[in-house]
Amino acid sequence: MIPEVKPLSAHDIIRIWELGHDMHHIERALLILSASSGSTQNKLASLPVGKRDALLLDIRSKIFGDRMNCFATCPECGDKIQFTLSARSLIVKSPDKPYDIPHELSSDGLSLIFRLPDSTDQLAVLSSDNIETARLLIIKRCLLKVINDGTPIATEDVQENAINLLCSGILELDPGSELLLDVTCASCGNNWQALFDIVTFFWSEISAEARRLLLEVHNLASAYGWSEAEILSMSALRRRYYLEMIG
Ligand SMILES: [Zn+2]
Repeated sequence: MIPEVKPLSAHDIIRIWELGHDMHHIERALLILSASSGSTQNKLASLPVGKRDALLLDIRSKIFGDRMNCFATCPECGDKIQFTLSARSLIVKSPDKPYDIPHELSSDGLSLIFRLPDSTDQLAVLSSDNIETARLLIIKRCLLKVINDGTPIATEDVQENAINLLCSGILELDPGSELLLDVTCASCGNNWQALFDIVTFFWSEISAEARRLLLEVHNLASAYGWSEAEILSMSALRRRYYLEMIG
């Protein structure tokens, strides 16, 4: 079941930033989701990657608003490009089907039974040498059964046609698992597709927000002697007015 998510409090943001400081970004994603939904990280780890990332986009827009300021480097001329994205527009609606059961797909005599990749798969391949090895390992973890012209094939021995069919099935059932952006370079006119990673993006915002909140705590505690818990329990508006009075 997809959990309901709510915005993170100032306390949550600092606690998540502190706990997630030395974690991998997939673990950070589960930490954020758990704080926002109240669900356990174990349960959240079995959400398909696209559904997980849609929830992160939702939480992000609840905390920081819809607009996201993004940067990219042109692969052709090396110029830095700045552009804005709408977080809500990146939330892709999945087909209205159960996601946590095995799925079936057939084409040209090839039949697959598979499940959708989730955070447990991504965590299981963290020690892979490169992205291509990690991708293949995830594919093999998600392929439950392969039959070619009536003959079962071991998932270890699958060929490119089975991999391509599986990838098309994953994208159809969990379209948010690969967020591709069309980017154009204003300097040289180059067009390309960039993969958007909400986990890394959101974590950099949480880190910046946590550091900003700690600076507010420092300034208000120094001026008024209030505790960290007292300061973080105030609304952002109230903290801002007190900070203005300090000058
Ligand atoms: Zn360029």
